Amino acid sequence: MGLPTLHQFQEQVSELLLRHRSLLDVLSKYQQSNAAVNRSVVKSMTECGCIQVHTSKQPYTPEMTLEEAKSALETHKDGDLCEHCLEAVKSEMGKNLFYLSALCNVLDIDLETIVEEESRKCSTLGLFKMS
Ligand SMILES: [Zn+2]
Repeated sequence: MGLPTLHQFQEQVSELLLRHRSLLDVLSKYQQSNAAVNRSVVKSMTECGCIQVHTSKQPYTPEMTLEEAKSALETHKDGDLCEHCLEAVKSEMGKNLFYLSALCNVLDIDLETIVEEESRKCSTLGLFKMS
């Protein structure tokens, strides 16, 4: 078996998810799993320390060319996730994706179509997709 397509993944989620079929349950689990992703990233800073955040105002000005802005804008992140934190963050992202798929199932939305449509928008918008 190769890599599952998003469609197959969504099918898998649908078969597994007997308990949280209610839209309300799915919405709250989705939100909770989203917070858990953020929390795992924060823990890599506050508990592990493998990444650090040093912030400052973004040096963006409207006069900048796209290329200038691309090289001037900061991620504010120093360091890289260690093996342990990387696994933790990926695991929470997986659960988040699981509940996004579950939400798609309840609302009869095809996840693969969302990715295709969003990808099309990205290639139309090009470099500057800030929000
Ligand atoms: Zn770490």
